[in-house]
Amino acid sequence: LRNLVLVLGDQLDAGSAVFDDFDPARDAVWMAEVAHEATQVWSTKPRIAIFLAAMRQFRDALRARGFTVHYRALDEHAHPDLESALADDLAALKPAKLLAVRPGEWRLAQSLPKACEAAGVRWIERPDRHFYCDDDDFADWAGKRKEYRLEFFYRWLRKREGVLMQDGEPVGGQWNFDHDNRGRFDKRGPGLLPAPRAFAPDATTRGVLAMVNERFAAHPGRLEGFDWPLTTAQAQAALDDFIAHRLPLFGRYQDAMWEGEPWLYHSRLSAAMNLKLLPPRAVVAAAEQAYRDGHAPIEAVEGFIRQVIGWREFVRGVYWQRMPGFLEENALGAEAPLPDFYWTGHTDMACLRDALRQTLDLGYAHHIQRLMVTGLFALLLGVRPREVHGWYLAVYVDAVEWVELPNVLGMSQYADDGRMTSKPYAASGAYIQKMSNHCAGCRFKPGEATGAQACPFTTLYWDFLARHEAKFARHPRTALQWKNLARKPAAELAAIRRQADALRRALAPDSRSKHGVDG
Ligand code: FAD
Repeated sequence: LRNLVLVLGDQLDAGSAVFDDFDPARDAVWMAEVAHEATQVWSTKPRIAIFLAAMRQFRDALRARGFTVHYRALDEHAHPDLESALADDLAALKPAKLLAVRPGEWRLAQSLPKACEAAGVRWIERPDRHFYCDDDDFADWAGKRKEYRLEFFYRWLRKREGVLMQDGEPVGGQWNFDHDNRGRFDKRGPGLLPAPRAFAPDATTRGVLAMVNERFAAHPGRLEGFDWPLTTAQAQAALDDFIAHRLPLFGRYQDAMWEGEPWLYHSRLSAAMNLKLLPPRAVVAAAEQAYRDGHAPIEAVEGFIRQVIGWREFVRGVYWQRMPGFLEENALGAEAPLPDFYWTGHTDMACLRDALRQTLDLGYAHHIQRLMVTGLFALLLGVRPREVHGWYLAVYVDAVEWVELPNVLGMSQYADDGRMTSKPYAASGAYIQKMSNHCAGCRFKPGEATGAQACPFTTLYWDFLARHEAKFARHPRTALQWKNLARKPAAELAAIRRQADALRRALAPDSRSKHGVDG
């Protein structure tokens, strides 16, 4: 065997550089399903299923091209992790070289080359063409900057790639249409929403769903409605469907939430992209074309492209620059445990209940739910960032560490001391009330910080401001928020802080009244 090509679960990229000179007569592909990937964090059933089903679809597609694929299915071997499965097969297959692109997780990017070299096989890493930016590009941009800001990175990359540019200027005359991206639904709600295209599981996928239901029965989540795109063709069809039906209103309602409506105008493409079934260049080109064809307005197209070419590439650059230390960061000294209800959805807080239930059931929540509901609550409560990270990595179908970790530790929990965002995303229940209809059906009142009806977000918000006053009160971007704190009468603030302490005690998983805000 000349080359053994390693394909991990998040590397299902038919255009990968590892296949450039693939010779079916002399080369083979290696893929393995291992339990550790599903249990190192307590993954939801949809998350486990999407990886395994997409891997099996990819295996079958490669075999149909005449490639030999050594595929280790979960129930066919007893290796606990990828390293030991690989070591075993390297000893048996004896390839001259192993070809790979870098794994999407720092831990594996260290351990797999080591396992390979320990087996006496050369590990050859090829560039990952899926992304716009590699480490050197990001380092060039980052230069000596101490703080990384999305806006500058985004402009730099858009210019370099000529995306939504005209004669060196941004199309539409401005870089950013953020102020047009904060719409909310009025009382009548979103009305009839365009249902995203669903992909019915075929026999291969049904086999995976049955296996996951049996083997991972105790894990959260449901597989009844499992309809994610799992092949390149399906991912392309999902993209076409988004561009045709949801992109035009994506921008306006990007930040809006509505009870019982998980998808709204979002693309649902993150999993397909993170599995590398869908190249971001194709996604960006399709969105840009929709603008040029007059199908979607600039604020929708720019807002969407900013997420893909901006945030997605940006967080990846930050991840590889800051690992492994990133994992340990905890700038706000947060030490509370994650409340149990994150794993069950059993809480009376309507916004959290809705976001958690769809997260656990479907493996999906949109950005504002992740940032301003589940993330915000953990930030205000002061949950250990590493525990928050473990939860996010476990629950979402699109969770791969390079993208999950910077979003959680950097953007949402401010654990990196502001290297990624200029201020903590701290808000009270009033924000959720403004952007959704959750509060109307909730027993807590977002305007109240003390008493039986006080919204826990609001109580914890003031407590958060008070706990971190010394750090932020003189910070130019946050001074206003803390000025409002200074206006609170001392007795009122003391009562809020007592209520926050009680909440924190009630929510600690080891306390007897652990679902303190439950019914
Ligand atoms: P849309 O709203 O339609 O956005 C379009 C695309 O832009 C997404 O598919 C995604 O590829 C990209 N994108 C948008 N926001 C971001 C972002 N902040 N970072 C990177 N890419 C972005 N995204 C993941 O892919 N995996 C994760 O594990 C993940 N964890 C997150 C954790 C937290 C705390 C937060 C605040 C955000 C996280 N995100 C993560 C980013 C974002 O929430 C998801 O990409 C998005 O909700 C996926 O749904 P969608 O495809 O419908 O996205």
